[in-house]
Amino acid sequence: MTSDADYEVDVAVVGGGACGLVAALRAARNPDLLVAVFEKSTKEGCNSQFSSGSLAAGGTRYQRAAGISDSPEQHARDILAVNGDPDAEPIVTALCRVAPHYVEWLADELGHPVELGVDMARSGQSVPRLHTDTGRAGGARLIATLRRAVEARDNIVFVDNAPGTGLLTAEDGSVTGVEVLDGGEPRRAGARAVVLAADGFAANPNMMAEFCPDAAGAFYGGVSTSTGDAIRWGLELGAATRNMGGFLGHGLVVPGHGTRLNPVLPFLGALLVGTDGRRFVDEKAQGYSKLGRIIAEQPGGRALLIWDERAHKAAMHSELMRESAAAGAFRRHETLGALATATGLPDSRLAETLAGFRSVSVVDNPSGTDHGPLHFPLYAGWATRGVLTTQGGLLVDTLGRVQHHSGHPIPGLYAGGGSAAGISGPTSEGYMSGNGLLTALGFGWITGNHLAATLGRR
Ligand SMILES: Cc1cc2nc3c(=O)[nH]c(=O)nc-3n(C[C@H](O)[C@H](O)[C@H](O)COP(=O)(O)OP(=O)(O)OC[C@H]3O[C@@H](n4cnc5c(N)ncnc54)[C@H](O)[C@@H]3O)c2cc1C
Repeated sequence: MTSDADYEVDVAVVGGGACGLVAALRAARNPDLLVAVFEKSTKEGCNSQFSSGSLAAGGTRYQRAAGISDSPEQHARDILAVNGDPDAEPIVTALCRVAPHYVEWLADELGHPVELGVDMARSGQSVPRLHTDTGRAGGARLIATLRRAVEARDNIVFVDNAPGTGLLTAEDGSVTGVEVLDGGEPRRAGARAVVLAADGFAANPNMMAEFCPDAAGAFYGGVSTSTGDAIRWGLELGAATRNMGGFLGHGLVVPGHGTRLNPVLPFLGALLVGTDGRRFVDEKAQGYSKLGRIIAEQPGGRALLIWDERAHKAAMHSELMRESAAAGAFRRHETLGALATATGLPDSRLAETLAGFRSVSVVDNPSGTDHGPLHFPLYAGWATRGVLTTQGGLLVDTLGRVQHHSGHPIPGLYAGGGSAAGISGPTSEGYMSGNGLLTALGFGWITGNHLAATLGRR
């Protein structure tokens, strides 16, 4: 207890995105606990809201109903096969284990309209395991579901426009609460546990230059509130960090628009060409984060994605493509001449590349359905590299407890989502689709459950 606090709660959550809301909801199942969520501002939205809302989970009833055999262990193996970070195994396993539980909880207890994205093939995923909302409205709908559930709980207080500004600590180094600005006034909120759920630092140019110099200057496609505040407070307390150079990049960001092309297009048989009209990469062999680096190395840092009517019909069923279409980020072309003129690519080279390319879809058939060469009319959109969120952060254990650099947990301090060291390894190449929300909802779930079970009545 903090004697000079302005408010006293049991659990103070900093950040009202997916991680913070799930942590609050799970902790508040213990009716003896009072939980406060301090949110910088909901005006712009959080990254969970901006996201596609695709939840990776292995072993759900949605997969079983679709005849897909999967498990948390298989999910963990897939992540570890690409993340270049074998030491993350305990955390990857812990997160994959809880993912099917919260996906089903979202549907059964919160009424979220969940469906399995059987058409959402992604590099490295051995089976379809991205779960989304029916209608594919994306993360905005997920956050709306979580906020409604928070509003319905009388032991959770959601305080908007209340940025956390620092941590309160006792002489023994334990965390006893959080400092916030409430209505512009500095306030001290005493708490028995503080959950840092304020996302990463992709909107902080100084931290990006220091930790992710490789991505400096790349288009940032997330919200401006991800300024790394919680990570900085942890560092001030001597917390250890990991994978600070890791980030979620995206190779299919549309230059000038900031919208994204659907990452399923390569898996439906789309072709990627450079500004010289040549194909330069195996489109299906890369995760979209790694593809970002490969495209960034092309002349002009961009490439043209080309797809046919068949792929178009399948890919339009997503909020990404609806946004891109509304922004005029891609166009339909009836002839080679029209495509070459509109894009400035050399038509003879483009004709040669198109003639030598076979459009193979792996979405319905994992061993590949060869649709032959691409036929006009074709759709085309420029793609470049963007940064969506950082993936490194405060080192946590499998309960979300923040670790001091000397090796022990900092009493009273938890972190999850983008504020915690993620599971995508030390660079942008180890990100597997769904890892971002897995660390957000997963740590929210684990930490919230732990606090509900261990913080008894005062
Ligand atoms: C365009 C885009 C698409 C994506 N698509 C996917 C996807 O489909 N699947 C997937 O798994 N991942 C996806 N990601 C990544 C994923 O969105 C993030 O990893 C995840 O949302 C992080 O969740 P979070 O709860 O940690 O952070 P957020 O959802 O960003 O929430 C953090 C909250 O903390 C608040 N905050 C910040 N600082 C403070 C402070 N000092 N005090 C109080 N509050 C503060 C912010 O305002 C924000 O509301 C995507 C990201 C982007 C940008």
